Amino acid sequence: MAKYDNNFTDQLRERLSIVDIVSRRVPLVKKGDNYWGCCPFHNEKTPSFSVREDKGFYHCFGCGKHGDIISFTMEMEHVDFMAAIKELAEMAGIPLPEYKPKTHEQIEAEETYISITSDAAKVYAEKLYSPDGAHALSYIRGRGFTDEMIKKYGIGYAPKNNIIANKFVNTKQDKLIATGLVRRGEYGMYDFFRDKLMFPIFNAHGQIVAFSGRSLDGSEPKYINTTDTELFHKRQTLFGFNFARESIHRANRAIIVEGQIDAIQMQCNGFGETVAPLGTALTEDHIAILCKANRNITFCFDGDTAGQKAAARACGIILPFLRDTSDVRFAFVTGGKDPDEILRKSGKAEMDKIINSAMPLVDFLWKITNQNYITNTPSGKAQAEKFLKSQLEKITDKLLRAEYEHEYDSRKFNEWHKWKKKSETPNIEIPDIEFTTKNTLLFIVNTYPELAERYGDFISTFNLDFNQKANNVNLNFESAEKYLISLKLQKYIENLNAEKKQLIVDSLKHNNSDTIKEVDKKIKEAQEKLELLLDTNDK
Ligand SMILES: [Zn+2]
Repeated sequence: MAKYDNNFTDQLRERLSIVDIVSRRVPLVKKGDNYWGCCPFHNEKTPSFSVREDKGFYHCFGCGKHGDIISFTMEMEHVDFMAAIKELAEMAGIPLPEYKPKTHEQIEAEETYISITSDAAKVYAEKLYSPDGAHALSYIRGRGFTDEMIKKYGIGYAPKNNIIANKFVNTKQDKLIATGLVRRGEYGMYDFFRDKLMFPIFNAHGQIVAFSGRSLDGSEPKYINTTDTELFHKRQTLFGFNFARESIHRANRAIIVEGQIDAIQMQCNGFGETVAPLGTALTEDHIAILCKANRNITFCFDGDTAGQKAAARACGIILPFLRDTSDVRFAFVTGGKDPDEILRKSGKAEMDKIINSAMPLVDFLWKITNQNYITNTPSGKAQAEKFLKSQLEKITDKLLRAEYEHEYDSRKFNEWHKWKKKSETPNIEIPDIEFTTKNTLLFIVNTYPELAERYGDFISTFNLDFNQKANNVNLNFESAEKYLISLKLQKYIENLNAEKKQLIVDSLKHNNSDTIKEVDKKIKEAQEKLELLLDTNDK
């Protein structure tokens, strides 16, 4: 029987869920860690056929049948290995590679590769504690890394010279170049990583296949990774996954953070189930790999605009992987911090709070819809609905999709339509009582002098009693500024008629409140347009 190399079958096993494949034929019910159904291979009335999503296999306690997605497809479809692979590849949307058995040379090349990368890691690790690496060591210690952590994660230092090219001078050049550690230049071989803090990247088997190097002199980009090689594909690699596997199983969830230092700090501070993509972009492959381990995923992003955008993107990527057993949430670290900083400055309890208050996907998707569109005009509602629909179409589980649609139908009715009947004034929520407004303004003036100065003219229109003490309001600097801007906008449009309000609404329509300045600019633009209109009307 011809065989595809393990790489490809592994890829299929990673991309496809055994639960999905089996449930096409056998109704399954989740109990504990396992899914159960009536065995398709022997006749039974009470389920003894179990499917393990995380392990990727099924086992029948009645007849002893056991296997994975490939054997299941072969048995159920009565096809041979090649045909099963072909069918599964189609399902996974992965092109079928030409049949190439792994040659002796290839196996040998992989062994050489791994031995070079692990030797290089040793060299880097030694260099970190040498005089050359003193600045790197002091940097990583400054980020709260103990010697124990440095050792566990194999952190090292790549010096400025060609240490790897020199060390492996007797190794065949092509083999060295294949690892991405060394390149061929005009004047001979040279090291790819120089003067970098080095983080080894492990494959699922715990072998070092690549490195991520952090710049130490403030130069950009902050991180460079080994470019893709035969054994390393950035888009399919999650940093820390080899260490996190067991914890993901135990915690029954995975956490995704943005950076690898965050991932290490999380893992070492009670969140062993944390991983990070390499570089910023999260891919479908990353999610597929995680979903195979566990479908409960908490994304933890920075609270800034970039983090919000990344979260919205992650939401779009994970929707096709959603099942009725998934628990997907979005947490945000606010105040310009990242998980690493929270853990070092405020400890695990603070991080627990952030993770535990993560927003369920159903709420997050609703939130971004309402943030991105102005939902109190027919056209705004239509745009928002189109967006929502395009997102929900990604959910492959039909029943689940129907439930989501149902949920949003009710939210649309309650929050978009009912609300409109109550009040004719569109737009921005108006603070309920003036006391609240005054109190909030007082609080801002007392807490953020910089804002008081920047928006002084506007604030002074409120007749505030500055001798009064303000009750505490939960607003950080950024939200306080947003509050001021939106209040400014409300005040401005309060006395306009519907047509003019619409003009303002239209100019703000495509604004996702990216930056405060942007909104302020938009208001000014709208004001100018309006004045122009008034001018024309007057004539
Ligand atoms: Zn059976």
